[in-house]
Amino acid sequence: VKQITLAARPKGMPDMSIFRFDDVALPEVKTGELQLKGRYYSVDPYMRGRMNDVKSYSPPFKLEHALEGGAVAEVVESKDPAFAPGDLVLGPYLPWATEMVVPAATVKKIDTNLAPASYFLGVLGMTGLTAYIGLLDIGKPKAGETLVVSGAAGAVGLVVGQLGKHLGLRVVGIAGSEDKIKMLKEEYGFDEALNYKTGDLSAQIAKACPDGVDIYFDNVGGDVTDAVVPHLNFFARIPLCGQIAIYNNEEPSVGPRIQPTLLTRSVLMQGFIIRNYPTRYAEGIQYLAPLVKAGKIKFTETFVEGFEKIPEAFLALFTGQNTGKMIVKV
Ligand code: NDP
Repeated sequence: VKQITLAARPKGMPDMSIFRFDDVALPEVKTGELQLKGRYYSVDPYMRGRMNDVKSYSPPFKLEHALEGGAVAEVVESKDPAFAPGDLVLGPYLPWATEMVVPAATVKKIDTNLAPASYFLGVLGMTGLTAYIGLLDIGKPKAGETLVVSGAAGAVGLVVGQLGKHLGLRVVGIAGSEDKIKMLKEEYGFDEALNYKTGDLSAQIAKACPDGVDIYFDNVGGDVTDAVVPHLNFFARIPLCGQIAIYNNEEPSVGPRIQPTLLTRSVLMQGFIIRNYPTRYAEGIQYLAPLVKAGKIKFTETFVEGFEKIPEAFLALFTGQNTGKMIVKV
């Protein structure tokens, strides 16, 4: 089978040279194990962090080993009575390999009556749950408030914005192209959408948020966040979800110190990592699934076809080539 090996650790923006395609032999399937064939592979911005050899919430990827990530796979052979060939399963950390042998306990069966299989990597998976926990637990939304979300046209951002509308908020999205801005307003019900690549973002925010910003759901950090902070209201909340704008920086990112604003306006900023909320996943899926089914949360995916395209799809996240969840379909 083919696997994608981490051949080198990236410096700054990664490129194709850090990946290598290897042919490897599959081990024999032992009791309690499954042989799986990958069907949908998730590529996610957090994987960039795991490529560095630094301490974080998940251990760094090992050099000369297969990369790994969330994937939906089909059972080919089962030595666990709970699984049968043909079952579709979700694993949060499956290797980037065409086929794999894993302990059955590391995957869960998915219910494709609830939603298409790929949705378990997006709106009903890691990114949808991130939106749910971040907005509800940390954002603590109250109807009538103003929510600004960065990375608004991505997997997490699209769900945050629509959840915000569902909860009666004024929702303003920030994204990086005119097509995305148009889509957020015309197809996803955002009240306003702003392009951070054109014009003065701070002035655009002032205009789009006449009553200031009560919740800033931060997916990107960097200059975008610097532009939002001056518009925060007293007792505003910042669910600190992602910092994709600075994941590739080789030097520490510098900017205006936001602490005096947070201090004097009594702002709560809280980082969170969805993997630390496993006991909430079932509740989150129960909350989101009916909204998805009823069309109150619409979801889009950018599919890239072919196992060999996984590295390119991953790299494309950093140039905004995806709308909604980036998925590699095999
Ligand atoms: P997205 O689907 O949003 O894809 C990434 C998007 O980020 C791109 O499409 C691009 O959109 C935008 N982007 C890329 N580079 C920059 C930049 N330099 N400045 C501003 N925007 C940029 O990814 P996800 O929804 O999966 O993740 C969104 C964020 O949430 C990431 O930072 C991720 O690390 C984080 N995250 C955190 C989790 C947690 O547990 N805390 C869990 C899941 C995700 P555009 O065209 O608008 O620039």
